[in-house]
Amino acid sequence: MRAKILARGGAVAAALSLCSGLLILASTSASAAPACTVDYRINQWDTGFTADVTLKNLGDAISEGWTLEWDFVGNQKVTNGWSATYTQSGQHVSAKNPEWTPGLPTGGSASFGFNASYSGSNTAPTSFTLNGTVCNGGPTTTTTTTTTTTGTTTTTTTTTTTGTTTTTTTGNPGEHVANPYSGAKGYLNPDYVANVNSLADSTGGTLGTAMRKVAQNSTAVWMDRIGAITSGRGLTGHLDEAVRQASGGTPVVIQVVIYDLPNRDCAALASNGELQVGQNGLARYKTEYIDPIAAILANSKYRDLRIVAIVEPDSLPNLVTNLGKSKCAEASSSGAYVQGIQYALNKLAAIPNVYNYLDIAHSGWLGWSSNMGPAVQLIANTVKGTIKGVNSVDGFVSNLANYTPTDEVNLPDPTYNVGGQPLQAAPYYQYNPHFDEADYSTEMRARFVSAGFSSGIGMLIDTSRNGWGGANRPSGAGGSSAEAYVNSGRIDRRLHRGNWCNQSGAGIGARPTAAPRTGFDAYVWIKPPGESDGIATKTDGPNEEGKQHDPMCDPSYRGDNQANGGNLTGALANAPHAGSWFPAGFTALVQNAYPAL
Ligand code: BGC
Repeated sequence: MRAKILARGGAVAAALSLCSGLLILASTSASAAPACTVDYRINQWDTGFTADVTLKNLGDAISEGWTLEWDFVGNQKVTNGWSATYTQSGQHVSAKNPEWTPGLPTGGSASFGFNASYSGSNTAPTSFTLNGTVCNGGPTTTTTTTTTTTGTTTTTTTTTTTGTTTTTTTGNPGEHVANPYSGAKGYLNPDYVANVNSLADSTGGTLGTAMRKVAQNSTAVWMDRIGAITSGRGLTGHLDEAVRQASGGTPVVIQVVIYDLPNRDCAALASNGELQVGQNGLARYKTEYIDPIAAILANSKYRDLRIVAIVEPDSLPNLVTNLGKSKCAEASSSGAYVQGIQYALNKLAAIPNVYNYLDIAHSGWLGWSSNMGPAVQLIANTVKGTIKGVNSVDGFVSNLANYTPTDEVNLPDPTYNVGGQPLQAAPYYQYNPHFDEADYSTEMRARFVSAGFSSGIGMLIDTSRNGWGGANRPSGAGGSSAEAYVNSGRIDRRLHRGNWCNQSGAGIGARPTAAPRTGFDAYVWIKPPGESDGIATKTDGPNEEGKQHDPMCDPSYRGDNQANGGNLTGALANAPHAGSWFPAGFTALVQNAYPAL
């Protein structure tokens, strides 16, 4: 039987560089014509593309603004952009300098970009003008095309430099290093960057400048439903873009969240998913979700990427403490969570350049030793049941999408006695001796090593929203009772540690950092700051992805006793569905960042 050849329209990157010819001017002129180069790179999928443009001014310094113009060859349409203001009329596009930076010195560059839609072919523009003068020169194009022939994937890169064509075909899987974050640069998700930069542009001023800094930090890509694998940019589009972001031999680390177990988010409603245990969810999870993800990650064209898989947030932790909820009980008794995770780990650990980190919740959830013991046992047994056993994982991630501080700097010793009581006895901590993520994660790491894991495992802390800066951040602690001392000194300003939805007062935390302390592979931003945790107001049942309103996202709700001791939720008002861009939430996170942006 003849193999069927499928052209996967996905990965086409083109770089086009135009150099100006020398212009001879008849007279001395203060306004000599600008000479420039334009590097125009596109990364496309079947209906859209991202363009990254670098304009270099080789002519006289420009002080009063620049405009780069071009004509699209097809029906491309700019949908949104960053670091320039775009106007399009028919095929004609102008990109104008952002207001805050009108100058472009001789030899200086401006980088900006946009997302666009298209259909048919996506030929790169052949000519650009800078302030009305053409930049001419011979184009250099790089085209990467992927073809899949039932089971075998081939990557072909074609570079054409003024008439010369070189074709390279890559193969073979990549390597596995001890800490994927060390010596690597983090992937910048262009869709997230576009959200941040367009809000920064419309906000302007000092706040806008602070916002723009957020876009320079790597955030994870969430595969939060089967459709996310292929729709929009899709997994292939992100990985192609990550390959493109590699430069100068520095590898790119890209974080992909595996988040689609049946009965997902079983103890809450906000992030419920599309698959149900009772509707063949586990089989679908394996064949329609994990298998295609693993097939894409195994493609040899991604072998030089370091791909971090963040495996199933909240899942096993829910089986430790929330079996009283029927969806969790079903996820446990059916084996769906454990078997789904084992299946995912088996498939992902088989790919040398994939690094698995399993979720261990956070100190305010599992920090009591009565929870830590069972958690380590369940997680260890799950991992030991995989083909590679304990070596299926590279480490564990805590505080994922949560708000718990890395260090409670004013409360370093939970046994410190004030007014006859240790701090851990204060109502805020309820005898949980782990006040922060550094302590909790260090202790969990030691327990995993005792349970048979390699001493090389590394921990990750999601610091995207655990900063707690701003005016309410205490600089010390005091008072005559443990309760008063804790409440005056804690960095965590939540009303209760069980509050988890769109927390008011929270700020962006430590920037992603490799190997920040012994035993830790990185501080990471898994939850992209500014994406909602859940919708604030009541909905008529779940949306098409399964998301719905959870009362813990309603600022006027007093939680139940188990969830948050009957306190108000501390959630911000007017938030959209989980995962949706929430500009007001992002603004608050930037204002309360610690360290400040
Ligand atoms: C949502 C996901 C989303 C992720 C990142 C989760 O709470 O359920 O859909 O991708 O957050 O924002």
